Amino acid sequence: MTSIDFTKHKKARALKPTSRRPAKELCSECGLCDTYYIHYVKEACAFINQQIGELEEKAHTRSRDLDNANELYFGVHQDMMAARKQQPIEGAQWTGIVSSIAIEMLNRGLVEGVVCVQNTKEDRFQPMPVIARTPEEILAARVNKPTLSPNLSILEQVEKSGMKRLLVIGVGCQIQALRAVEKQLGLEKLYVLGTPCVDNVNRAGLQKFLETTSRSPNTVVHYEFMQDFRVHFKHEDGSTETVPFFGLKTNQLKDVFAPSCMSCFDYVNSLADLVVGYMGAPFGWQWIVVRNNTGKEMLDLVKDQLDTQPVMSKGNRKEAVQQSIPAYDKGVTLPMWAAKLMGVVIERIGPKGLEYARFSIDSHFTRNYLYVKRNHPEKLEEHVPEFAKRIVGQYKLPE
Ligand code: FAD
Ligand code: SF4
Repeated sequence: MTSIDFTKHKKARALKPTSRRPAKELCSECGLCDTYYIHYVKEACAFINQQIGELEEKAHTRSRDLDNANELYFGVHQDMMAARKQQPIEGAQWTGIVSSIAIEMLNRGLVEGVVCVQNTKEDRFQPMPVIARTPEEILAARVNKPTLSPNLSILEQVEKSGMKRLLVIGVGCQIQALRAVEKQLGLEKLYVLGTPCVDNVNRAGLQKFLETTSRSPNTVVHYEFMQDFRVHFKHEDGSTETVPFFGLKTNQLKDVFAPSCMSCFDYVNSLADLVVGYMGAPFGWQWIVVRNNTGKEMLDLVKDQLDTQPVMSKGNRKEAVQQSIPAYDKGVTLPMWAAKLMGVVIERIGPKGLEYARFSIDSHFTRNYLYVKRNHPEKLEEHVPEFAKRIVGQYKLPE
């Protein structure tokens, strides 16, 4: 006789889409609460129970070495490099390394499905999480949906489908909750391919960002904050528009970013097996962080499709970060001519490679630390991981 395993979580009920989430305004809509895995929300939610150190031990067999300068910033890793696809995928966010790894894993039978995010028919930026079972479905998920995406909302489907080998692509808050419930999913093998993530927004916030920043908000198909200190927008007609970071209307954009992202300290996706971003690499290249052997196995599948080079680091970010803290706090916006000039100067002499990544991490962690301190002081001590406290501790912060 077969015994049915009615594990406790299956008796829990997903929340209705309109119900207030347990993390309240800090909810990043990761999707967990749209499933019966809400049963675990108090332990699993990245905004209720920050536990990056413990989960690093489970995922990578050890937590990061806080005395190792690179691990302090970029998390547990065995390798880092800059890479780009020799033949970029048309329409991917960068060169399509993420989509290529996912396709390879499916084609070689390493996994039966891939959790990724397509968009709805009506709106190219409205995320629609799916379990892709064909390369075409993975390709249809290429390019960032720069909005909060409920990736974990498909977890019930994973369990019901009976899949045993799965790849999940996602950002830090999704992956933290996923790692916390990993053992309950009934999988033989879970692969996790992460991207860094910062300054995400809900759909309405994205519209405001596009309208305040781009010359043609409705034709933007893709944008990225790039290593040359400019936002690059790509439009439907193939044209590119660049806006210097220092010209952003910070006074109008201050409340655009989701409260979850204003209180997040997992920019580098600490719990993924392999992370693919751009910020630690030279302009035009992607940045790869191999955290463990599973991550190495995934990267090896596409190594022959990539050009690679070692990571580099140049410049000194510290003064630029220190100066940006009060400027952001006061919502200072430079006139466009001054912003362009500053962009040119900082591109020439500013931080590059890993130092640019540190610049971005420092700027966001100091901002977020102040946000949590002012808006959720009761959470500050437990919610901010030790590595972030050390990073923030290098700077003088306003009250
Ligand atoms: P592609 O082959 O185009 O694949 C992109 C993958 O991203 C798809 O598989 C899709 O499923 C997934 N995806 C798209 N939108 C979302 C979403 N909202 N949530 C979860 N998964 C999603 N890198 C940095 O180095 N620094 C940053 O500051 C940074 N910010 C980011 C912010 C966001 C919101 C996102 C989604 C990514 C960010 N990245 C950042 C990662 C970077 O922009 C690229 O996604 C990454 O380098 C992969 O590029 P690619 O061409 O290989 O991806
Ligand atoms: Fe639930 Fe995820 Fe929101 Fe936390 S962030 S309350 S786990 S949906």
